[in-house]
Amino acid sequence: MVGVPGGKLLIKNAATPHSRSTTDILVEDGAISAVGTLEGEGMDVGGRLVMPGFVNVHTHLDKADLLSKMSPDQYGKSLEENRELLKALKKNYRVEEIRERAGRVIDEFIANGVTAIRTQVDVDATGGLKPLEALTQLRDASRAELQICAFPQEGVLREDCLGRVEDALKSGADLLGGLPLVEKTREEQLQHIEVLCELAVKHDVDLEVQVDESNNPEDFLLPVLAEKTIEYGLQGRVSATHCISLSAVDDKIAQETIRLVKEAMMNVIVTPSANMITRFDTADDVHSRASNSITRVKELLAAGVNVAVGTDNIRDIFYPLGNCSMLRELHVLASATRMTGEEDPVRLLGMGSANGASIMGLNYGLEKGCTGDLIVLNARNAREALNTTPVIPYVIKGGHVVCESVHEVEHGG
Ligand SMILES: [Zn+2]
Repeated sequence: MVGVPGGKLLIKNAATPHSRSTTDILVEDGAISAVGTLEGEGMDVGGRLVMPGFVNVHTHLDKADLLSKMSPDQYGKSLEENRELLKALKKNYRVEEIRERAGRVIDEFIANGVTAIRTQVDVDATGGLKPLEALTQLRDASRAELQICAFPQEGVLREDCLGRVEDALKSGADLLGGLPLVEKTREEQLQHIEVLCELAVKHDVDLEVQVDESNNPEDFLLPVLAEKTIEYGLQGRVSATHCISLSAVDDKIAQETIRLVKEAMMNVIVTPSANMITRFDTADDVHSRASNSITRVKELLAAGVNVAVGTDNIRDIFYPLGNCSMLRELHVLASATRMTGEEDPVRLLGMGSANGASIMGLNYGLEKGCTGDLIVLNARNAREALNTTPVIPYVIKGGHVVCESVHEVEHGG
C-alpha cells in the first residue's frame, strides 16, 4: 500500500475534470481534507487526471460470470427464453459458488477503478436467499462499497413471493428492487408498482425499479412509477432503470413524463451496452428489429434529473460480454446518445461516478469533506480518459491504494 498508516495520502500534481491546472489533494481518515498547493512528500501522479472512483450503480453480481456454465446453444436468446435458462442454472446454485464468481468480478471492477457497486440479487423460489447470503458475506469483506438490492425475479403479487422479498429485507438487503415486466397483465404490473411502494415505506428502504426495457411505446410505466413515488411520499428515494420506452413515445408525452420524474426527485439509471442488445422478439416485432434503444439521457439531464450508469449483467445469459470497465460503458453511452459535444466527456465521467454515488448515498467529489475514494487515470483530461486504453494506474479507497498498475503510469499518457 502506498498510503501511510492512518489512511493519510497526499496526491501531488493532479489534473481534475473541471480545471485546466493541476492541484494537490490530501486524503486523511477516509476523506479529502485539503485541495490546493500543499506542502510535503506525496504520490506524484505527473499531471494525470484524478477523479472520484467509478460507481457501477446497476449490475447483477449473483449471475456474473455464469457463461462458463452455459452450453453453446444457450447464447443469443430473447429475454423470455433467457429467463427460463436462468431458472435451470439456478437450480445448481450454492452459496460458495456464487461467492466465488461474484468475488472474482468485484476484484475486476476494482481493478477498473470502480469503488462502489450496487448489485441486484435475485430473490425467488428457485434460488431462495442463497444469492443474498453470498453477496452479504462479500459486502462485509469487500474493498469496494457494496449495496445489495433485493430483486423479486418472480414478482411480488403472490403471497410466497412477497414473503420471500420481506425475508430478504430482514436478512441484510439494503434496498428493494422491482420488475413489473414479470407480471402478466398491465393491471398486475400496476399492482406490482403499488406493492413495491408499500413495501419501501413499510421497511423504510430505497426502491429501484426496472421499467420499460423495450422500444415499445405501449410498455410505458415510468409515469406511473413517478406518480406513485409522489403519492407514497418516496421523493428522492426511487430510481428507475432502463426507461427505454421514453424514447419511443412522442415528444410531448416524453417531456411531460420527464417533468414528473423530476418532480418525484427520481434518479434514472442507464445500462447502455445491455440496453442496446436486449431482444424482445418475435421476428415481426418492429420495436426490436435492429437493436433495442436507450432512454432520453440528454433531455433528462437538461431537466435536472440525476442520470447514472450501470454495466448491468457481466458475462451471463442476458449479456455474454462485459470487461467490468466503466470507461467502456461510457463510450457506448456517448455513441448511443450522441453525447459528442465539447463538455460531454466531463458529463459522462460524472454520470459514471458522482451521479451514481449520489444514488447510493455516498459523498463523491473533489472538495474538502468528500469521501477519499479516488482514481488516477491514464489521461490528462476527461476526453483523453475516454480515448486511451482503459487501464487505471491507481485505485484509492479511503486514502489507501487498493490497486495499482504502475507500468502504465510510467509509459502511458
Ligand atoms: Zn439489470
